[in-house]
Amino acid sequence: MPPYDIIIIGSGPAGLTAAIYATRANLRTLVIAGSVAGGQLMITTDVENYPGFPVGIQGPELMELWRKQAERFKADFVDDDVTKVDFRARPLKVWTSDGVHEGRSIVIATGANAKYMGLPNEQRLKGRGVSACATCDGFFFKNLDVVVVGGGDTAMEESLYLSKLCKTVTVVHRRNAFRASKIMQDRLFKAPNVKILWDSEVVDVLGEQKVEGVRIKNVKSGTTSDVKVQGLFLAIGHEPATQVFREQVLMEKGYLTLRPHDGFSTATSVEGVFAAGDVHDFRYRQAVTAAGFGCMAALDAERWLSQRAG
Ligand code: NAP
Repeated sequence: MPPYDIIIIGSGPAGLTAAIYATRANLRTLVIAGSVAGGQLMITTDVENYPGFPVGIQGPELMELWRKQAERFKADFVDDDVTKVDFRARPLKVWTSDGVHEGRSIVIATGANAKYMGLPNEQRLKGRGVSACATCDGFFFKNLDVVVVGGGDTAMEESLYLSKLCKTVTVVHRRNAFRASKIMQDRLFKAPNVKILWDSEVVDVLGEQKVEGVRIKNVKSGTTSDVKVQGLFLAIGHEPATQVFREQVLMEKGYLTLRPHDGFSTATSVEGVFAAGDVHDFRYRQAVTAAGFGCMAALDAERWLSQRAG
């Protein structure tokens, strides 16, 4: 079998949008969707900020529609994880448990997962007051009290965003200094309804059906106290799904590095390998931006292939 024109790895908003654009451009397309297909929206409930859905839509339903749209234009799908890649020779090679798949170009759209603290009640109350995305879920906490965990730029950004919606925001950080950039820290310190608990950790999430509070431990004194809040936002980093690409594609802190050249803005360090969505974008992390990147990567791959065809 000749190599696919394009192999898309990942089936979240970035991967499926790349598939729609690639197949509609008549490229022979394989989507390696992952054993748990659909990306982060599969674990989201109400999506109210994806354009085109005036009354909102459930995350899994949105991904089902998205996949149907990609299948309509005859992309091949493999619902499995990539175990190995070889981008050092042509055609480019990608392995799953079925064997090897060959492609002339690749779009990596494997996304990133938010880190959680690993507390049993945190997992149980995910989507019922526990969130890792203020832009996605902040609206549901209008005029309520919330806690944000973390001390990096994401924690500052999420806290500032929430401070405009919520009654109070309590930032819980495990040390006595933030690692976030100075400018972001200064903005946070100026927000009137933000309180900071230094040297503190959330050790339990309270509530039966939904979050009703958190138990906080001061790591210096060892004392614990319960704080009544309706929301808990984790901002302790993300883990890009790039393990399998190590040693093959340039990355920084686990995120793929884009190497724009000759108008290919989604190019990576490997010729013919493009990246889309949260796998390289630590800044915006939205379904709609991931979809945009997926479109860009497919258009880049198509143009890159056409330049090599003639
Ligand atoms: P980050 O910089 O790695 O910060 C993670 C924060 O969470 C740290 O303060 C860390 O504490 C804390 N943390 C980690 N694990 C924890 C745990 N298990 N329990 C409690 N706290 C925990 O991650 P990020 O804020 O998501 O940023 C990632 C990258 O994106 C950074 O390079 C950042 O500058 C960049 N970014 C930039 C912008 C911007 O420029 N506007 C916005 C967002 C992100 P310690 O400090 O004690 O390690």
